[in-house]
Amino acid sequence: MNKKKLQETDSEIKETLQNEEDRQEFGLEMIPSENFVSKAVMEAMGSVMTNKYSEGYPGKRYYGGNEFIDVAEKIAIERVKKLFKVAHVNVQPYSGSPANAEVYLALCKPGDTIMGQSLLDGGHLTHGWKTSFSGLFFNSIQYHVKADGYIDIEEARKLALEHKPKLIWIGASAYAREFPFKELAEIADEVGAYLVADIAHIAGLIVAGAHPSASEHVHIITTTTHKTLRGPRGAMIMVTEKGMQKDPDLGKKIDKAVFPGFQGGPHDHTTAAIAVAMKEADTPEFKEYAHQIVKNAKALAQELMDNGLKLVSGGTDTHLILVDLTTIQKGHGVFVQDALEVAGITTNKNTIPQDPSSPFYPSGIRLGTPALTTRNMKEEEMKQIGKWIAAVVKETENYKLPEEKEERKELLKNFRAEIKENAVLKGLREEVREMCKRFPLYK
Ligand SMILES: *Cc1c(COP(=O)(O)O)cnc(C)c1O
Repeated sequence: MNKKKLQETDSEIKETLQNEEDRQEFGLEMIPSENFVSKAVMEAMGSVMTNKYSEGYPGKRYYGGNEFIDVAEKIAIERVKKLFKVAHVNVQPYSGSPANAEVYLALCKPGDTIMGQSLLDGGHLTHGWKTSFSGLFFNSIQYHVKADGYIDIEEARKLALEHKPKLIWIGASAYAREFPFKELAEIADEVGAYLVADIAHIAGLIVAGAHPSASEHVHIITTTTHKTLRGPRGAMIMVTEKGMQKDPDLGKKIDKAVFPGFQGGPHDHTTAAIAVAMKEADTPEFKEYAHQIVKNAKALAQELMDNGLKLVSGGTDTHLILVDLTTIQKGHGVFVQDALEVAGITTNKNTIPQDPSSPFYPSGIRLGTPALTTRNMKEEEMKQIGKWIAAVVKETENYKLPEEKEERKELLKNFRAEIKENAVLKGLREEVREMCKRFPLYK
């Protein structure tokens, strides 16, 4: 048995972990799907629970030795039930995408009609996008957002009445406004569809009351546990009371779809860490945290607009902001993402609704405040960061994306070399580092 520390057995990886820790500690993490877990969650993740096989469910396992795995899984389930006010919970999905695949497996047959928000309008791949299994195996109908950036409920109703989907998704990855759960529920009920809320991004806001809950409107809820919920990488599927009324077997169907339908052994270290994160989420401090996320996003959005940037839907109700860079040029997202990275600000380029460019060269930048808020940053810091972002965007304004592919590569290569040496960006990198030092993370 090798009891040596990583430092002694593998200095290459040890050093890489150290580098990643420093990157997180001294940079501004603004990808809205990311967050920083507590030391307690990290401890559960890096625990002996990773050694176990436990196919099945508490009390009904295919392997022996699951006494304590059962305890951890039951605690996790009870905590989720209480937090989200739902009837049935499965905490075993490996991540958000598998959780959604398992919902399809529970409810649909290949070729069935399903409906979700288009990827280009902020939806998730697994909600029926053409290159995902969900678009390949099902007859996928996609609804969109209106010119004002809000979900087009009228279009969703029209499509649902016309195509009679068996399953409708509500939820997205790049949508800054409150989700109209009630309105979509009326549509789903009208056509007899299952309504599934994918709250991967906003789960933490929902448990804190910083976003309306989906529980009373939808039949099933899926969520990741590692975004605003601030737990380990993982996911859960919940069945609501409304779902149980529509189909009393729904809980069993979900459990069967997760195992043996789609997965093998659950990741028990993740389950234990989910339990820990749910205990943390059930505190006044977490409520305050989640409300601060939204306050921070609103403050940042206002500052960006005050500095001349255009936002999809003109602002935010949540943790997320989508900047429309077509005011500079179509396909400008890549320039801004890379320049922000030089300044120590991590974001991601993203399509905007009716993007005139392509998903690989999208015209937007997606920003979020969950990770910064975990560091205790508040409105004052958001205003400063908003000014920095606007200054970085300015540095990119003179770069124009050529139409021709080879020319694009060449220009981007030059651009990347030049911004690395850009004095404004280098100066901002130092200011970012100083701000991070004032809001320590793990150090
Ligand atoms: C992040 C996300 C997922 C997928 O989660 P993974 O863990 O990356 O597979 C699913 N749905 C939505 C809406 C998401 O934002």
